[in-house]
Amino acid sequence: MEEHLSTPRNNELWDAAGEAVRNGRAYMADVEAKLVDAEQRIALMDRSGIATTIVSLTSPGVQGVSDSRQAVELARESNDAARRDFVDAYPGRLEFFAAVALQDPQAAADELERAVRELGAKGALVNGYTNIGDQDTGRYLDHPDNAPFWTKVAELDVPVYLHPREPLPSQRRLYEGYESLVGSAWGFGHETATHAVRLMLSGLFDARPDLKIILGHLGEGLPFLLPRLEHRLYKQREGIGLGAAQRRVSEYFNDNFLVTTSGHFHTRSLDNTISAIGVDRVMFSVDYPYESMNEAVDWFTTCPLSNNDRAKIGGDNAKRLFGL
Ligand code: ZN
Repeated sequence: MEEHLSTPRNNELWDAAGEAVRNGRAYMADVEAKLVDAEQRIALMDRSGIATTIVSLTSPGVQGVSDSRQAVELARESNDAARRDFVDAYPGRLEFFAAVALQDPQAAADELERAVRELGAKGALVNGYTNIGDQDTGRYLDHPDNAPFWTKVAELDVPVYLHPREPLPSQRRLYEGYESLVGSAWGFGHETATHAVRLMLSGLFDARPDLKIILGHLGEGLPFLLPRLEHRLYKQREGIGLGAAQRRVSEYFNDNFLVTTSGHFHTRSLDNTISAIGVDRVMFSVDYPYESMNEAVDWFTTCPLSNNDRAKIGGDNAKRLFGL
């Protein structure tokens, strides 16, 4: 369910030259061709035994558009294209997560409602912080201005997939001289794990205890890191820096989060994730076309899991979550 698409309009907006430098030009050329090709996607799903995929606009997508009006338009166009060119072209095989323009939280709420009720979207996928006005101003999902969006998410009772994006340009000093670390290799996880912790500490889940957030990449490191965070926040510092949170971060992680295997095909990490959040909250994903369906499926079908757990992670958990 962390499987990406693009549209001609999105391609126009995003010159992937920077990414090509960091990821390799041949790799990015291959990815870009696959992002817009539903037919090849279905052929690869058939070959690797994947029945259904939930697609979403690739990062940064709508979140990276500085101009609010343009962002609202891109969200609407992308959702229409996802329905028309992917879902309707392969009914039952492809579903989609809506893109939402959080530059205008009320417009994001309205578009989410339209996407879910009229187009059949399975939830929203948000690519990290949202640019407001320029490329170096970002608003994270815990900001109070996003209240209309969260109200609508709760009303529709759909999950929000929090997908990574690169850190703000002014906040990359840590990676200077090591540009390959800015994106998916390292910076994505760091950025997204911190974003998720912001949500936990903001009090959002105390106000709306039924919200469901999906994280990719086996939880962006949180299964391993949360115990340390909790220890320092709650035990040694006696509550300093807890923000508005009423509960322990591990409780929010267990009650409000689900994770996918996207792009992290490693058995020891999977074991750690299951031990932190429980097998009922882990779902198979590839992160196509940035990752290979075959590689993901080869790992998943041979890693040491009980048949019951493999069935849950491989589909039953998602069927329950999305009513598929
Ligand atoms: Zn992804």
